[in-house]
Amino acid sequence: MKYACVTVSVSHSDVDNIFHYSIPDSMKDKICAGMRINVPFGRYNKIIEGYVTGLTDTADIDDKKIKPIHSLCEEYPVISEGRIELARWMQKKYYTTLSSCIQCIIPKRVNEKSFACIALNDENEALRDMIERVMSKDTKQKRVLSLLLGGDAIPLSHIKSILGIDGAPVSALIKKGVVKKVYEKTYRGNFNTSLVKKTEPPVLTAEQENACNVIYEELESDSPRPVLIHGVTGSGKTEIYLRAIDRVLKSGRSAIVLVPEISLTQQTVERFVSRFGDRVSVTHSKLNDGERYDQWTRARLGEISVMIGPRSAVFTPFEDPGIIIIDEEHESTYKSDQLSPKYDAREVAEKLSEIYGCVVVLGSATPSVVSYYRAEKGEYRLCTLENRVNNLFPDIKITDMRVEMAYKNFSLFSRELKNAVAENLERKEQTILFLNRRGYSTFVSCRQCGHVMMCDNCNVNYTYHKGIQNLCCHYCGKSIRVPEVCPECGSRHIKYFGTGTEKIEQEVNKYFPEARVLRMDFDTTQRKNSHQTILEEFRSGKADILIGTQMIAKGLDFSNVTLVGIVAADLSLNLGDYKSGEITYQLVSQVAGRSGRAEKKGRVIIQTYSPDNYSIRYAARNDYKGFYAQEIAYRRQMIYPPFTNLFNVLLTGEDEEHVKKCMSGLVYIMDHYNKNNMFTLMGPTPAVISKINNNYRWQVTVKCADEEKLRNYVLFCLDKLKEKTDTKNINIHLNLNPSYI
Ligand code: ADP
Ligand code: ZN
Ligand code: ZN
Repeated sequence: MKYACVTVSVSHSDVDNIFHYSIPDSMKDKICAGMRINVPFGRYNKIIEGYVTGLTDTADIDDKKIKPIHSLCEEYPVISEGRIELARWMQKKYYTTLSSCIQCIIPKRVNEKSFACIALNDENEALRDMIERVMSKDTKQKRVLSLLLGGDAIPLSHIKSILGIDGAPVSALIKKGVVKKVYEKTYRGNFNTSLVKKTEPPVLTAEQENACNVIYEELESDSPRPVLIHGVTGSGKTEIYLRAIDRVLKSGRSAIVLVPEISLTQQTVERFVSRFGDRVSVTHSKLNDGERYDQWTRARLGEISVMIGPRSAVFTPFEDPGIIIIDEEHESTYKSDQLSPKYDAREVAEKLSEIYGCVVVLGSATPSVVSYYRAEKGEYRLCTLENRVNNLFPDIKITDMRVEMAYKNFSLFSRELKNAVAENLERKEQTILFLNRRGYSTFVSCRQCGHVMMCDNCNVNYTYHKGIQNLCCHYCGKSIRVPEVCPECGSRHIKYFGTGTEKIEQEVNKYFPEARVLRMDFDTTQRKNSHQTILEEFRSGKADILIGTQMIAKGLDFSNVTLVGIVAADLSLNLGDYKSGEITYQLVSQVAGRSGRAEKKGRVIIQTYSPDNYSIRYAARNDYKGFYAQEIAYRRQMIYPPFTNLFNVLLTGEDEEHVKKCMSGLVYIMDHYNKNNMFTLMGPTPAVISKINNNYRWQVTVKCADEEKLRNYVLFCLDKLKEKTDTKNINIHLNLNPSYI
């Protein structure tokens, strides 16, 4: 092959082409698809990075004009052919550039880290004489040499610290030619697996056995179907994953386990390590680029065969992935909404299944309505686990907060919850109080005129943080002192509204001064490992009550927790999103699952102002199928996913009038070309957050069941808009089925 097909790393859609470059002779044997290279680009031949996507014998431009590849970044391909195929699919599916997809799949490039080691020089006559001479005298050099006679290279830093010497004797030995300095590679970010004890697998329950057999069958299949495991919390799903992985590893293939970042705890990882030891690695967002790069390298080289991590771990470069497990598959974090490509890890996993023939396993106590619908239609295989392994389900009680008001109880706690907490304290059992919100209060407003303190960059209200006595914008991070007088009317009556974890903590301290309390939310978990520290303290019984946000809603397994209070279930009911019902059902059931996980029976108290809401009612009865039946009927009637696709077009820019003008232009064009009303337009509206960092945001969402037609229509209309209007200062963001609109 004479030419390389190259995509370059300029993330602008105008240069999303494949360019041809000639291959210098010196690179002929090395170059192949998937290599990262440097190429001259543009009129001034600036050297930029690119990726070889294939080789060809015929170039699309004149031979005289063709430029040669400048240099190789690495000696090996950084992306496999299968994943180049994946990148091409993502490019089309998520409307973005090929190079941004490749960059999303591979880790950021960093320097590999190596460190100096000392080793014995290569064996020869002169060396043996020299060794004898050094060893005959009792010197520091002799002590260094004794360490090295075993044959292994030893890090210089070890030699110095073990022997308590400086570098001089080593330098002297190098000069004599007895030893030499070598550089060995070290991996950053390894999970320390050596401290975890091996465990033996338990005997499976009949339900677990059945689910395993379904997965085993799919593992044998040439075109496996995804398997959806619907099992209540504590029904033993993780044990099923472990068995399936064991089977996969025995056949020489590898496994990827996706878990939401917030359930990626020490406890979760240890369950995998206790079975598969140092074959396991972990990735998460707190790893730095070097650590991530090194763990990716270990996967690529086959040094590990199980990778656990959040969404992005789906791209772990195993040569032969056999299974991709997606735990808590309903979580919205599997969909990337911020950065391009705005991919969905579940869809990526299914594409990988097509490319590599691996099995996708989706697990959840509360499957997403879309996945359950697919299982119902037979696109997925469904396994249901009805029973908890320990056969206990908590008593769930709904408390009507309107009644509390009537009894002049204005506290955050109903009388029932207060009594239950008191009982638990007495019995020395633990309690979790759950609130899906962070900070002391949601907003600060003026009693006199009603003015709400807002961040002027983002058009969202400030959150008041009592700890630091500040108002903080949770979108751009801006923070100001609480004003003493209202900036609108000058009144001094400024009031803090709402309910936050800090406020719950205050009330708990007031009612139960003797209780030991821990709080876990956005503000207390900013430091590395603080998340884990809080959980460990709670597990070891150093606190009676854990107060927290959604971070504590899932994945945890504490045997002494027998009471869970959901302080304000309504918070998620009023999101203004078609998924509010689904989100509420999921939250309530996940939190309820925290209670009574071992021998002791658990209790859950749900406080709400809407006790008749169907998602709360079904969640309290642990009746997923009842909830699903009502929810899917609503989706069918209103034509929401899974019965359609939503395609969100967001325009942003600094000039508000211009953004609005472009948006109405776009909607005008969309109306014009929507001949048979095949497409439904929702909007235009300002985005939920109408301004971020001084960029105004307007959006329209287009609805159509046919994804291909939807894509073509939207892209066509955008092209028309660009022809007619100046969109230079406008950013266009496209998102297929966003998690929130
Ligand atoms: P899930 O992942 O569905 O929440 P887990 O796999 O964490 O459930 O199981 C819940 C608890 O039951 C865990 O403590 C686990 O060790 C235990 N367990 C799971 N399967 C079995 C089994 N077959 N026999 C005994 N204990 C089991
Ligand atoms: Zn005011
Ligand atoms: Zn802001």
